Amino acid sequence: MSRTAKWLLVTAALLIGVLFVSGTVATPLIESRLNRVLSPPRKVSATAQQLHERLTVVDLHADSLLWGRDLLEKSSRGHVDIPRLREGNVAVQAFTVVTKFPRKASLQSNDAGSDVIGMLAMAEHWPSKTYTSLLERALYQARRLREMQARSRGKLILIGSRQDLDGFLELRRSDRSLVGGFLGLEGAQSLEGKLENLGTLYDAGFRMIAPTHFSDTEFAGSASGGNKGGLTELGRKLVREAEARHITIDLAHASSKTIDDVVAIARHPVVVSHTGVRGTCDNNRNLTDAQLRRIAGTGGVVGIGYWRAATCGTDARAVARAIRHTATVMGIEHVALGSDFDGATAQPFETTGVNQITEALIEQGFSNDQIALIMGGNAIRVLRANLPSEGGAYVPARPATSLLRASGMPFVARAFLLLFGLAALTICWIYTEHYSDEGWLNALLFAGEYYARNFRIALFVIGLFALFLPIRG
Ligand SMILES: [Zn+2]
Repeated sequence: MSRTAKWLLVTAALLIGVLFVSGTVATPLIESRLNRVLSPPRKVSATAQQLHERLTVVDLHADSLLWGRDLLEKSSRGHVDIPRLREGNVAVQAFTVVTKFPRKASLQSNDAGSDVIGMLAMAEHWPSKTYTSLLERALYQARRLREMQARSRGKLILIGSRQDLDGFLELRRSDRSLVGGFLGLEGAQSLEGKLENLGTLYDAGFRMIAPTHFSDTEFAGSASGGNKGGLTELGRKLVREAEARHITIDLAHASSKTIDDVVAIARHPVVVSHTGVRGTCDNNRNLTDAQLRRIAGTGGVVGIGYWRAATCGTDARAVARAIRHTATVMGIEHVALGSDFDGATAQPFETTGVNQITEALIEQGFSNDQIALIMGGNAIRVLRANLPSEGGAYVPARPATSLLRASGMPFVARAFLLLFGLAALTICWIYTEHYSDEGWLNALLFAGEYYARNFRIALFVIGLFALFLPIRG
């Protein structure tokens, strides 16, 4: 082998090595910095806890699918996973899917060309199609949630229809450890400008769609977009088509004009999955009183977020103040929760701490019945009204193409198994080639010595396996 070829091999192996560790090292570091919790966990009063345990809590927004975690396992990172939802007595979680995010996100104005999710997709070893396709990013995240459902032994139940929702609520009456989830899209950019893709996304389980996220899309203007326009002609078609398919329209991040345009043509209740209100926190990400009234006019709900830019505070009391204002302006039956957990936000608590909101609502003077509506009752009413009545083409998860993946073993165990397999194959090969007369132990020693001497080849082989390991179904 020539010198250049050797160095090329070494460089390739190192690059592959970097890619290999990025998903296991880099993403956790990034997430720990972005999805922070501001205060340590704390107990609430016995009265608040007793009430909280009787509630059916619904959270309309969390970006937990973005960070490569297995949500069936309790993590020390981020804000949401199934065990923590169970601990916090959250019955239904909206898993909202982010497919594009500007390099330097600003509340004022963002360039529609800027995106960091492609890099995240590479670091987390998503399928290569997701590097460039926003549609594939959405489909991949939906597939991951369905795979988790399949491995959850009935503990995580995905909701795609009214029948699913009612069935889930019925089951949960006797088993409080069950968690329901439904899929939402944070921004219609995942349609890649094609209305036909809405059908594909519906089939993948999506039941809520926001026309925009941080930047303007082919369909509508964003509150933090470059132009802040309203619905385009294609956007109008999107609203009609989504409503016809029983997909809920989410006006979070929409420009003022988009909100007006959607409300003018909406025939079903619309939601704002995560927001603050200007009445208690005045910035252009949050809703004015006039906007709140228009949304109430559709019969919809507004999910109040917990992070600082939504409430201008850092605790549950600030959330309760925003809820009080919203209820006063819109009516109690139009208020809901929309945490924005795992949405690159610093939060006052993780999802185990939502009982702090129940406590703060008691302090605000809301009655138990009103608290039940705010914490989930209203959101369930809107979900029931908007979801397709049954079946809803909810396709079960495709089996993973890799057997190792389908087994649900942790990543490190799978990596070890593959490397072990590789070593065994090499020994077999060397044994048959050179040492058929001298026994297995010698073959093993020889293989060790061979790799020690030819470490670059060893590095290359390990790198090669690292490259194939992340290939997903
Ligand atoms: Zn958001």
